[in-house]
Order: sequence, then structure tokens, then C-alpha cells
Amino acid sequence: MSLEFETIAAISTPPGEGAIGIVRLSGEEALKIADCVYKSGTKKLREQKSHTLHYGHIENPKTGEIVDEVMISVMRAPKTFTREDVVEINCHGGITSVNQVLQVVLQFGARLAEPGEFTKRAFLNGRIDLSQAEAVMDLIRAKTDRAMHVALQQLDGNLSTLIRNLRSDILDTLAQVEVNIDYPEYDDVETLTSQLLVEKAKIVKIQIQQLLQTASQGKILREGLATAIIGRPNVGKSSLLNFLLQEEKAIVTEVAGTTRDVIEEYVNVRGVPLKLVDTAGIRETEDIVERIGVEKSRQALANSDLVLLVFNQNEKLTEEDSLLIKATDQNHRIVILNKMDLPNKLDLTKLETLVEPASIVKTSILTKSGIDILEEKIANLFFAGQTGEKDATYVSNVRHIALLNDAESALDDVITGIESGMPVDLVQIDMTRCWELLGEITGDSVQDELLTQLFSQFCLGK
Ligand code: GDP
Repeated sequence: MSLEFETIAAISTPPGEGAIGIVRLSGEEALKIADCVYKSGTKKLREQKSHTLHYGHIENPKTGEIVDEVMISVMRAPKTFTREDVVEINCHGGITSVNQVLQVVLQFGARLAEPGEFTKRAFLNGRIDLSQAEAVMDLIRAKTDRAMHVALQQLDGNLSTLIRNLRSDILDTLAQVEVNIDYPEYDDVETLTSQLLVEKAKIVKIQIQQLLQTASQGKILREGLATAIIGRPNVGKSSLLNFLLQEEKAIVTEVAGTTRDVIEEYVNVRGVPLKLVDTAGIRETEDIVERIGVEKSRQALANSDLVLLVFNQNEKLTEEDSLLIKATDQNHRIVILNKMDLPNKLDLTKLETLVEPASIVKTSILTKSGIDILEEKIANLFFAGQTGEKDATYVSNVRHIALLNDAESALDDVITGIESGMPVDLVQIDMTRCWELLGEITGDSVQDELLTQLFSQFCLGK
């Protein structure tokens, strides 16, 4: 039997203790294998109706030992996740019982599934396309409700439908071009065909651009908004980080410059997932350990989508502060005046000449004031006026974004080719390339290595 059609098995619930754990089997022999190890007073699983649940025990037939008391679901092809016969064994959720159940089904003919192999089969058997398979992974990893909503929409096939429509439009045009080339009955056929190509290229280009416009937000929803908290030592960066995380992960201390490691944590600010990067402050230092922290801080700054620049308003602005302002001038930035519970010593009028006044928020992390305004500012920065577009199709996947960019430049080649008077059959090649690139998003034109690589990023049992 070829590898493709072997019956696979894996634990589909997360490792660790839980009320139940699920061992899943998929493939032609799923029911037969399950019957080898399943004991109940009634019928064999093979004789049961599809989509039914059965009580019994898993037994190791070689030793006669009872492994666990279980509930088993029987789901026959094709109405299953993989479109193959699927058996799910619900066992008790301890680590050992789930593992032992897995071991016996492996002994009786199943092969351990590779990461993502169930989803890969769903794709290979045509139940979902590639962008939907990727949505399954996004769904597992979604960090906020909003990110989950985007992934769910992709799983529903929103993006696929859009891409398929674009492809079929392009294909129609290419067919028309073929006809024109094969039957050049009229003198101006070359001109007409060029027009047809360039018009279609322009229309498709606009649609691709619209999709790409959602990409930066889609990417943020998916991967989190890389956020650097910077400022001089002791202004309250770690306190802010901790407040946002609501747990004591970073070291908060009275001694200047002791937040040494760059820590990454996620926090959900009103639907925007922030990937927080805590830094040791960007400044020159003699201390080696600190310098590593500082170098990392500079990098963090360069890779940040958002900078939270923190000042202690109980101190005067320093030379260092001015450097930090300059260093972050190009970033999306929110300026935080912290320690508002203490007397004011910072010259606000001067600060307002150095940074955008609307970007300033006053907080006291100690008394927990002003933080709601900060959170609102962060949310507004990224979802200003967006609430109505909750159902918009977002492109959030880096692979999709790259393919859309390539497809757009193929269309540019079509447009400039026609405009510079290139022969239609050459321009046609670029149009075909655009059609193929879009096909890679849905997996309609896709190579084996890519599939292997994509599915290997999945977790085991999915
Ligand atoms: P970092 O070096 O910028 O990370 O600063 P920390 O978060 O370690 O804070 C330095 C000190 O300032 C700690 O003792 C905090 O408790 C204190 N602190 C932080 N925020 C506030 C605030 O809003 N008001 C006051 N009075 N103290 C604060």
C-alpha cells in the first residue's frame, strides 16, 4: 500500500492532563484497526452506521489487558475531515492512557501521522484548498477573537472564491486571445487583442491591490503587532509591560538598567494582538550584559510596527530623551508620560514641539490611571473606522502576500508590454504567469515540496 493511503493515527488533543484525550485514525483501514482493539458487548464498529458514537473498552489483544474505557465515533468517508474513514477514540485524558491507546492502534496496523497529515489529506482529497488548509493552522494559532474570525472566513473559502473568480476571468481573456490569434479575420485583430489584454490586466490589478491593502492589518491580526516599549531606565517600562500582561514576567526593579533580557509576550489590546518586546532602553553603556540588551533593543526598534516611548514626567527631559525621540521619528509612535501621580517636572510645551501632540498619553501605572486611554489609542491606530468591515476578506498569510505581489508585477509587465508595442503572444506569457501565481494561493498550481514544507508546520494530530 502506498504511503499516501496508509491508515494514520495520532493524538489530536494537546499533551498534558485533561478530562478527555482523543486518538484519531484516518484511512481505509481505520475501522478494521479499531475493531482489532475495541471490545464491547454489541456489534463491531464496521457494522455500525456512519456518524455514530459507541461505548466500550480498548484492549491489547496480545496481552488481553484492558487499556482504557472509551467512547468511539465512527465517521465514514466521504463526509469526514479527511474524506477518508475516520475513527476518533475518546479516552480518559491522562498522558499515559492516551499514549497507550495510540500504541495499540499503531501495533495493529496504523502508522503514526506526520504533523499536519490529516489536514494534508483533506487537501489532497479535495475537501479543502490550500488557503483553507493554511486557515486551519491560523485558527489553531489565533491569538485574539478577531484573528480567529479572519481565519474562519478564510476557512469558509472567502479568499479562495475571490482568487478563483480572478483566475477564471483571466482564463476567459486568455481563451479569447487564443481565438483572436488563431483566427485573424480582421485587420485590426492585433490592436483589439492588445486592448483586451491591457484592460483585463488593469481590472485584475485593481482587485489585487485592494486585497493587498488588507494585508498589513491581516498580517497584524495573524502575527501580532510588533510593539517595542522604550525609554530611559526607571521610567516604568517593565511596570507597563507587566500591567499589560497582567502577570509578573519581566523583572521590575528600582535599580536603573536591570531589565536586561529582551522578552517577547503577546497581549490582546481590544482585539489587536500586540507582540510586546521589552527592551533595556536604547543607550550607550559600558556594561557588557547591558550592551547585548541594548543592541537587541535597536534591532527591536527597526522591526517594530509600533513604539511606545515612555517618559517619567517627574523628571526633566534629557539629552537621552531627545535621542530616543529622534530614533523613533519614523515609527508609529505613542508617547507615554508616566508617573502622573508625582509632581510634574517635564516641560510639556517643549515636548509638544518634538513629537506629535496627539500621540501623547498621560498615565500613572502605579495608580492605574490613563491606561484605558492608551489602549484605546493603540486600537484606534489600527482599526480606526474599521468596525463595519469585520467581515472583509483579509489577506494575512505571508505566502499569499508574496504571491499577490508577484501576480501584480506580472500584470504590470502585461500593461507595459502592450504599451511599448510588444507582440501579443509575448504579453500573453505574463498574463499566464499571473494566472499561475494566483493558482498557487489556492493550491491549484502547486509543487510537492511546498506542500510538504507547509504541512510540516502544523502540529501533530491536526
Ligand atoms: P523601567 O526601568 O523603565 O522598566 O522601569 P520600572 O518599570 O522598573 O519602574 C521603575 C520604578 O518606577 C519602579 O519602582 C516602579 O514601581 C516605579 N513606577 C512605575 N510606574 C510608576 C508610576 O506611574 N508612578 C510611580 N510613582 N512610580 C512608578
